[in-house]
Amino acid sequence: MNNLLIRNARIASMQSGSEKHFGLLEETDIRVTDGIIQEIGSNLSAQPNETVIEANGDWCLPGFVDCHTHLVYGGDRSEEFAQRLDGVSYEEISRRGGGIKSSVRATRNSSAEKLITQTLRRARRLREEGVTTLEIKSGYGLDEDTELKMLTVAGAVADKLDISVIKTYLGAHALPPDNDLRADEYIDFVCQVMIPKVAKEKLADAVDVFCETVGFSLKQTRRVFEAARDAGLPVKGHVEQLSDSKGAVLACEFQALSVDHIEYLQESDVATLAAAGTVAVLLPGAYYYLKETQKPPVQALREAGVDMAVATDMNPGTSPVASLLTCANMASLFFGLTVEEALRGITINGARALGLHDRGEIATGKRADLTLWDMPSPASLIYEINGYRPHTIIAGGKHVA
Ligand SMILES: [Zn+2]
Repeated sequence: MNNLLIRNARIASMQSGSEKHFGLLEETDIRVTDGIIQEIGSNLSAQPNETVIEANGDWCLPGFVDCHTHLVYGGDRSEEFAQRLDGVSYEEISRRGGGIKSSVRATRNSSAEKLITQTLRRARRLREEGVTTLEIKSGYGLDEDTELKMLTVAGAVADKLDISVIKTYLGAHALPPDNDLRADEYIDFVCQVMIPKVAKEKLADAVDVFCETVGFSLKQTRRVFEAARDAGLPVKGHVEQLSDSKGAVLACEFQALSVDHIEYLQESDVATLAAAGTVAVLLPGAYYYLKETQKPPVQALREAGVDMAVATDMNPGTSPVASLLTCANMASLFFGLTVEEALRGITINGARALGLHDRGEIATGKRADLTLWDMPSPASLIYEINGYRPHTIIAGGKHVA
């Protein structure tokens, strides 16, 4: 592994607890040894085995973390999108075999190789903006073989792009469309067959549930969370996206890593998140595509000291957005995050939403996931849409782009 010395950078460390804007550091040099930030200082001299990168005053930020995506899926739903704009109803599209059913069908029918190719295209878009850690969920197979295939494909993407991929089993995404299993019977299969299997084979790092009136009930969600706990896997939830179903409160009872969407979270339930140390994940891409008007209770979350993260929710139905920076911009404009909060949402708090404490900030002892930018200020990234790309991306100490 390369040892690196980055010299003369302006370091926006995003360190938690820093009083400075963007966790700005006085020091300008970063020494990376064996993939870890070993030293941060000024006028550091290069060791014989180090590659020197001259930053020439450019900004250095932590690699971004996209903590909620559905990046692996087969097919394409652009035709359906066009039909909807032509005035065709959701019900009619569903009757024609569209919607999530079409993604499930296409994902089942795609080979692993084909899924890898399709997923790599999307993952590259995210990486070129500086994403070095990516969460990917299953949930478009809803049968044993396809769910396992999706998780394996997610792992392959990490190897191909030299980034970190955190895998989440989301069997409880929807009911399988092609059989007459009742929801309770399908949840039996998720809890008794799939969760023990993905845990044993280390195919997933966490378990997720779509808890909603149109998804799974609170009772069914509890069963999935119990099975995950028994298998030693942490949980998270798609909760309070369309209604106040109290999924977030239930998730906190299981010390969930994160509760995601939460447009309908009641202010009176925010204290529960704070007490559980659960991260609130905001997904403005889905809010935008669904033309939602209900906003997450950001001010109450802020006042309670709940960490807020921002993610793309990249998926073929409700958030086909392959740009984490665009989502950070939307989180500021739609939900009222400050620029600082939006950037922390895709760095340190994104990492926390995945239970990762070794990244998301530039500090000694952390993973060397670093990006270099020629731009006026870190605020430029939230201010301009599609304005900047990092010219250098380092993931785990490796110069990947
Ligand atoms: Zn999602």
